[in-house]
Amino acid sequence: MNITREDVIREVKKIVVDAACNLDPEMVRFLQLAKSKETAPLAKTILSEIIQNQEIARNQGIPMCQDTGVSVFFVELGNQVRLDFDLVEAINEATRLGYKEGFLRKSIVAHPIDRVNTKDNTPAVIHIKLVMGDTLHITFAPKGAGSENLSRMKMMTPAEGIEDVIAFVKETILLAGGKACPPLIVGIGIGGNFELAPLIAKEAIFRPLTDEATHPINRELEVRLMKEINELPVGAMGLGGVTTCLAVKVNSYPCHIASFPVAVNLQCHAARHKEITLGGNKHEEI
Ligand code: SF4
Repeated sequence: MNITREDVIREVKKIVVDAACNLDPEMVRFLQLAKSKETAPLAKTILSEIIQNQEIARNQGIPMCQDTGVSVFFVELGNQVRLDFDLVEAINEATRLGYKEGFLRKSIVAHPIDRVNTKDNTPAVIHIKLVMGDTLHITFAPKGAGSENLSRMKMMTPAEGIEDVIAFVKETILLAGGKACPPLIVGIGIGGNFELAPLIAKEAIFRPLTDEATHPINRELEVRLMKEINELPVGAMGLGGVTTCLAVKVNSYPCHIASFPVAVNLQCHAARHKEITLGGNKHEEI
């Protein structure tokens, strides 16, 4: 299966612009559901305004938030796909064109110390996984700094357990308060090592909102944290109520006998992401 550089640039550019302006319908449904259950009048108003904001963005083709984020890509490359070009270069070119043509804010500085803007939102952060098959699947997520900055990672000790994980996650949510723009999607990665735990936490954010972890311990964490986080005095945009988070997703990975890495990646209510599949019989955007 041949996929061309032009295919990648054209299709990725589309989802770069689309993601900024069109919040995933499932996310909108979760916001509407949360609004119907919310008991605090101010939080209800805030949720209405968040829903109205994304409607205006969709109808007028403008970004739903001024922070159009770091461009994060998760790529699944099938072993039967033949590429005769540099995939990373093509994704960066699509990012560059999408941010320019979509009039999206360019938020990347070339070096964290001298902070000179690259002026085209590149380079993107690109994770590539090799899989079986004849398709190239690309997920794009513009990740705003507000919620990303309040995310945390801790190398816990093996003597700690589920109660300590819950305490660490709740502490993270409390420290973030309104600055992470709740209601949140809370992605948690437990296990792996120092670099893997945050990566699986980020992947957790992009799981379907309705799915449930298959491992019983992960599922117990999801259920307990969903309840306990929404009992914290944070609420929509930090102004109280019962809607601090819309979903909690826990991913895990085996780890060293002497390690217990835990990462919490916070995703604000602007949980934007789009997917594209190229090759095979597929050519579809989700
Ligand atoms: S945290 Fe999210 S909603 Fe808040 S400013 Fe950043 S991208 Fe926008």
